[in-house]
Amino acid sequence: MNSGYTGRFAPSPTGPLHAGSLVAALASWLDARAHAGRWLVRIEDVDTPRCVPGGADLILQQLVACGLVPDEPPVWQSHRGALYQAALDQLLDQGQAYPCACSRKDIADAWAARGLPHQRHAELVYPGTCRDGLHGRSARAWRFRTTGNESNRAVALAGRSLSATKNIAEPVIHWHDRRLGAQHQALATEVGDFVLRRADGLWAYQLAVVVDDAQQGVTHVVRGEDLADNTPRQIALQRALGLPLPTYLHTPLVLGAHGEKLSKQNGAQALDLSQPLQALARAGQVLGLPANATAQARTVGAWLEAALPYWNRWPD
Ligand code: GLU
Repeated sequence: MNSGYTGRFAPSPTGPLHAGSLVAALASWLDARAHAGRWLVRIEDVDTPRCVPGGADLILQQLVACGLVPDEPPVWQSHRGALYQAALDQLLDQGQAYPCACSRKDIADAWAARGLPHQRHAELVYPGTCRDGLHGRSARAWRFRTTGNESNRAVALAGRSLSATKNIAEPVIHWHDRRLGAQHQALATEVGDFVLRRADGLWAYQLAVVVDDAQQGVTHVVRGEDLADNTPRQIALQRALGLPLPTYLHTPLVLGAHGEKLSKQNGAQALDLSQPLQALARAGQVLGLPANATAQARTVGAWLEAALPYWNRWPD
């Protein structure tokens, strides 16, 4: 197994696997095997208050019950803080990250002062209050500078009155998804300077995932479509840190009876460990695998082997 392909499934242990997360796990496994590549599992337990005790062990058992066995022992993000700190230090040195003293209320107040009404539930784009320094306040969090480093920013600001230079101030990240096709996001205006390390000291998913994918040599990211919106932030970080860019495939979501996305938060049921073939069949259906190809399989190994030749819908 040395095709140069490395894929991964990266669950957050905030609850057991459900039908939706199995789709992402199965797709990433099939893609890795179809490319004769490595398949890794990474436990994304950086957001410790949201992790449930024993959650990671249960997920690993559920994967094994479905025949999805990683090629190497899983890594745990909670053990990798030094790597994330080194990346943050690099970004700080390059002027691409900065400390921020603002609370949520400060951010809402800054927008209110500019005439934007308070929106209770919307995630507010950071208004840039601490971009030029803390002005005597103490740092609570660290943010990524989406508009480039200081000299780029000076150019961008100087150019604001000239509409022709608008793209400098608002760079658009373009990327290609194997299933969704051409994608783009104006990171600075749609997302804004996002958090890398939170006020409570926890590492943000965006930084941890980028550092780990690069450090583990991940070449192909296959994950649920609900994460597609995060990809431009991750690409911006990869570029800033000088890391290689993986290819992306965002898989279809499993919808509940009322068309809502299945998630641990809305009480999606844990996969039933006693019925792994049924769980695989349901996931295979979401991925468009023909049901008759796997209908004869009596073991999870036989099911996966039968499904593999049909994994060709979303080529690189
Ligand atoms: N840990 C993330 C989640 O469970 C997935 C991260 C990723 O695949 O990039 O939603």
